[in-house]
Amino acid sequence: MRETYRELRPRAEMPAFEVRFYPFANINNTIRLREGTLKLRISDMLEGAPESVLRAIIHILMAKVYRKPIDSGHSTRYRRYVSSYDLQQKAHLMRQIRGRKRFAPPQGRTYDLDAVFEDLNLRFFHGLLARPRMSWSSARARNSLGHYDPAHNAIVVSRIFDHPRVPRYAIEYLVYHEMLHLKHPVKLRGSRRSVHGPEFHAEEKLFPQLEQAKRFLKTI
Ligand SMILES: [Zn+2]
Repeated sequence: MRETYRELRPRAEMPAFEVRFYPFANINNTIRLREGTLKLRISDMLEGAPESVLRAIIHILMAKVYRKPIDSGHSTRYRRYVSSYDLQQKAHLMRQIRGRKRFAPPQGRTYDLDAVFEDLNLRFFHGLLARPRMSWSSARARNSLGHYDPAHNAIVVSRIFDHPRVPRYAIEYLVYHEMLHLKHPVKLRGSRRSVHGPEFHAEEKLFPQLEQAKRFLKTI
């Protein structure tokens, strides 16, 4: 931990560290700097990972929080591990334990939700979000444009958007919004559930065609 920090910040003061394995529904990792303490939450699915992989994820998270370039060796090592067969199986098992449900495949007539996710993942999340199950809603439901289903770790998008008339930025915005739900699990604030907290809103504004997308969705 200290070594990784030194590599990135040779002269800065050493902060305190707090690392916890956390039962995210998917392989998710977060970092926060609070009052001089670096708080890392690492998915419990990585608990048994080799040390080189843990080092890699710590490097990636620290680089992110201090806005330093991510070493490509570390990012390759991490991504390779996450996509490895073993881990896929563990995630699969976890989904089975958490319930069964039918999901339509991610490849629609016009858009491939897996591809949309991966593209957004690289552009906005340093490729750090593990892809949940991506699915088109089976009904042509208008009441829900898209939602994240934490029990099944699935992002479901209404099939009405799988159409050439729908601009790519609109579908990207829907998926981006749900990816933010993956990243910011629902918190309790007082007695109210805060689904779209201030951090959520701030990050949503990073989507370049936010206004265009919202305008388009109003026409649906
Ligand atoms: Zn939402």
